[in-house]
Amino acid sequence: MKFGGTSLGKPHRMQEVADLVTADSEIKIVVLSALSGTTNALAEISKLLSLNERNAAKQMIDALEVHYQDFILALLSDPKLLIKGKAALAEHFEFLYIILKISFSEALQKDILAQGELLSTKLFSLCLASKNIEHKLLPALEFMTLDNQDEPQVGTIKVKLSQLMQKNRETKIFLTQGYITRNARGEIDNLKRGGSDYSASLIAAAMNASVCEIWTDIDGMHNNDPRVVKKTRPVEQLSFDEAAELAYFGAKILHPSSIWPAQLFNVPVRILNTMAPGAKGTLISKEAGSVGVKAVAAKDNITAIRIKSSRMLLAYGFLRKVFEVFEKYKTSIDMITTSEVAVSVTIDSDTYIKDIIRDLEILGSVEIDTNQTIVSIVGNEITETKEIMRKLFESLMAIPVRMVSYGGSRHNISLLIPSSYKEESLQLLNEGLFDL
Ligand code: ASP
Ligand code: MG
Repeated sequence: MKFGGTSLGKPHRMQEVADLVTADSEIKIVVLSALSGTTNALAEISKLLSLNERNAAKQMIDALEVHYQDFILALLSDPKLLIKGKAALAEHFEFLYIILKISFSEALQKDILAQGELLSTKLFSLCLASKNIEHKLLPALEFMTLDNQDEPQVGTIKVKLSQLMQKNRETKIFLTQGYITRNARGEIDNLKRGGSDYSASLIAAAMNASVCEIWTDIDGMHNNDPRVVKKTRPVEQLSFDEAAELAYFGAKILHPSSIWPAQLFNVPVRILNTMAPGAKGTLISKEAGSVGVKAVAAKDNITAIRIKSSRMLLAYGFLRKVFEVFEKYKTSIDMITTSEVAVSVTIDSDTYIKDIIRDLEILGSVEIDTNQTIVSIVGNEITETKEIMRKLFESLMAIPVRMVSYGGSRHNISLLIPSSYKEESLQLLNEGLFDL
């Protein structure tokens, strides 16, 4: 069971999470992220330190400490546990005040970012103790590791975590931190922002869990982006492939990397709502459940690049040369469309855009469109269903679509549009494809 920041962000919410983890007597591993807002604050503190703005950083640490002090006062009424809570805060905030005095480095930044999960698990452990709930806190830094390619290894996690669990045979509830891990050099590292979902799925895969429950603040993945369109509904069932497309192309509910471990080890993932624990949520498993379109999602900050060359005509090897440029600059391509004399690709990171353009210009003329959005239509066997294309194009008649990618997978049709048309497009698709 993984609980996100909003599920833990208020003392009464944390109490509710305690009820959820004790709702049945199955053995479980509870993975927690930091309380909502904490990782953002820690990231901001590291940024200020990297800019040597120590006063501003100190003010932020002060504010965070006050927030946590209020939090434990409301969470823990037993004076003995309150003393323990205060000691936990003292330890972590002391660390933050010490780093104010030392010089900033990337490794230090990772240490700072780790404080959120270290704190949330300690506080939740005290919350369980206040209810006399037996449990054991297993430090993620003792079993989560990255290899020298910065990739987590399910096999290693399995060996180390099994050993730790074996030492506590009587225990039914294990707690651990999401997001944080050690890297190949043994330093504290993390699985990137939003990575607690990934931790949960890696742990579930390693331990061959019967299910990986992701408890969040919405009742599952929705058919459209609830932040953009008014009416959306949860999707009951998705295959791993569909969920991967959705998570990657914009649905912010699940970290995209968290799909592969669950898929590889065939552990079903359930997305559930802490605020409405009885709601069905979304089940992600091997089976798609039904045929047709299930959801649309949008991904912003996309750059489209068109490379045009008469040399592409009847030539072979041209695409390889184009792709090599992106490989050289470690930039991944999301969408591709081609004609006989031109190829368009999209990228979501423009870190190396200048170098990429310079190298591509050797191959032909290059045009760039920034501020683009990929709208993805995701479902099961959608490219086999005629009606869907008609509805799709009819819905988007008034939208200047820049690229269409169809047939690359049976689960996805992607369209590239200028970001200024995103809201309108998602609304039109909501009506045209879902009658909402
Ligand atoms: N606390 C981390 C973050 O905010 C990890 C997570 O919440 O999944 O990114
Ligand atoms: Mg998250």
